Order: sequence, then C-alpha cells, then structure tokens
Amino acid sequence: MGSALGLAAILRAAGKEPRVIVPNEYPSFLQWMKGSDEVLIYEEHVPECEELIANADLIFHLDYNALQRSGSLEHLLVDVSAKRVMIDHHQQPENFADIMYSDSSMSSTSEMVFHLAEALGYREWLSKDAAEALYTGIITDTGNFRFSSTTPETHRVASALLSMGVESQIVAAKVYDSNRPERLHLLARMLQKMEVLKNYNTIILSLNEQDLNDFDFQKGETEGFVNYGLSVEGIELSIFLYPSHDKVKMSFRSKTNFDVNVLARTHFNGGGHVNAAGGVSHESVDQNIIRIKNVLPHYADKLRGE
Ligand code: 5GP
Repeated sequence: MGSALGLAAILRAAGKEPRVIVPNEYPSFLQWMKGSDEVLIYEEHVPECEELIANADLIFHLDYNALQRSGSLEHLLVDVSAKRVMIDHHQQPENFADIMYSDSSMSSTSEMVFHLAEALGYREWLSKDAAEALYTGIITDTGNFRFSSTTPETHRVASALLSMGVESQIVAAKVYDSNRPERLHLLARMLQKMEVLKNYNTIILSLNEQDLNDFDFQKGETEGFVNYGLSVEGIELSIFLYPSHDKVKMSFRSKTNFDVNVLARTHFNGGGHVNAAGGVSHESVDQNIIRIKNVLPHYADKLRGE
C-alpha cells in the first residue's frame, strides 16, 4: 500500500490520472495514508475496476512478481492491452511485464519507487504525502530497519523522505500504536500455545478458527505475530499459521542464512525472500503443523547451523 499510494501521489502531481486498485480490504493500520479513501477495492467495485483496467494506458504491478499473487484480480490482469511495469523486490520474478524493475536486494518496493522517481527526475513531484506513504512501506518491510535487507541506501532514502517533512514518530504511532485490546489478547493466546522445537531451533506459532472468533479477529491483526518466534534466543526459524477464509495462511521468518523462500516454495505453495516468506494450504492448521514437523528433519543441519 505504501509503494502504491506513494507512486500514485507522485504520478498525480506530475499530471497523470492514476488509480490504485487492490483485490480486497487491507489492514486498518494502513488506511490513514493519504489517498486511502480513493483506493478501489476490486471485490466491492467490480465493474468500475474492470473498466479501469481495460482502458488503462499503463499498469504498474507493485510489490508482487507473479500474477497469481494478485488474488481475485488475476483473471483481469492475465490479458491486458495496457503496457505493464513491474516494480518488485521478491525473488524469481515471472516474465509478464513489458518493463521489469525487479531487484531482490532492495528493502522494499517503496524504496524502489523512490529510486524510480529520482531516476526519472520526478523528485519535485514527491510531496510530503507521497514521502509518508513510501516511508511507511520502508519501515514496515524492514521491521523498522532491523532486517538484513536494510542497507546504507535504504537509510539514505529514509533520510531523504524525512527531510521532505515525514515525522517518523507520527507514522510509527499510526502504524504500531493503533491496536484494539482484542489484538493483544489474540497475541497472548498465540504465545500461550507456542511450540518450541529445540532440535531444529524452530518455533511454531498458530491460531485456529476458535481463537480468531474469541477475539473478533479483524484482517491484518496477526501482522508481525511471526516475529515473536525469532525473539527467542537461539531460534533460527519461526513459523506462524492461521486460518484465512477457506485456507490456512503461513508465514516463515528466519534470522540468518536459512532460506525460507526455498522452504515455502518447496513445501507450502508459497515464496518470498530468504528471511521472510509465506505460503498457503488447503489442509487444516493441525495437519500443517504435522507436515512442518515431517519436513523439518530434512533441514536439520541447516537449522542447527552445521
Ligand atoms: P507474510 O508472511 O508477511 O504474509 O509474507 C512474507 C513475504 O512472503 C512477503 O514478501 C510476501 O509477499 C511473501 N508471500 C507471502 N505469502 C506468499 C505466497 O503465498 N506466495 C508467495 N509466492 N509469496 C508469499
């Protein structure tokens, strides 16, 4: 959302007529960004989105590199008359765009949008609102500049955004200090159920349907939960699972060289980055936990750093 709203604000200032379309509702902790009120949620505005996509001159695919990742929008994006530009930092991009700006060494797509704006000589169109959206994308994708994807260049871009008037404590408060108490109860439930697999330096975190119902779960409220596993000393891999619609959504995080992109791609219909990946499954949470436990022995050496 940060990269999309940031790029849209830049293009609008440059005299273009961008629209941001997302497949479905996105988390409320991101809905304060300027331009959010004009985001079109495909599942709620089907005809309008179909018309916009059919008549667009140019389509930017931001922060995903496989059409399948666009969810319910995928069928509209398979065959379009518009030229396409992909801007993305995930590994192994699919080849569907006319112009591909794909760089897995980048911290975030938001950082890439900033580089693009600079390269195009569009910095003058980068307003404080655009800067705020890009800064939000950077802090959320780098875990507040903690993950290994954070480079000196990431800090240079963040610095440039701050000098455009972004107030870091205000952005952080909007993103991180907007919890409902129920979210903390849900977190407590997950931590209570935490399973530590010492042999594999792994922690499994999970929530089931009942847990979500008990605390009136709202979309986005499990964001960041997987990171708690990594906060335990000696843990190399943290896995978090929870039911989402008719599937189970899985998040994988690792600390050093353990490649969760490979793990997610090979066993859990997913992908992502070396240290952060996700996957989906049609089996239950419990069945997936059994599957994880069957898969881990194959990675024992790597997980033990041997
Ligand atoms: P998260 O665990 O926060 O949902 O996702 C972590 C990273 O993995 C993100 O960069 C996200 O794009 C990617 N990712 C999450 N789920 C999937 C998936 O089902 N397939 C693929 N290819 N990537 C995913």
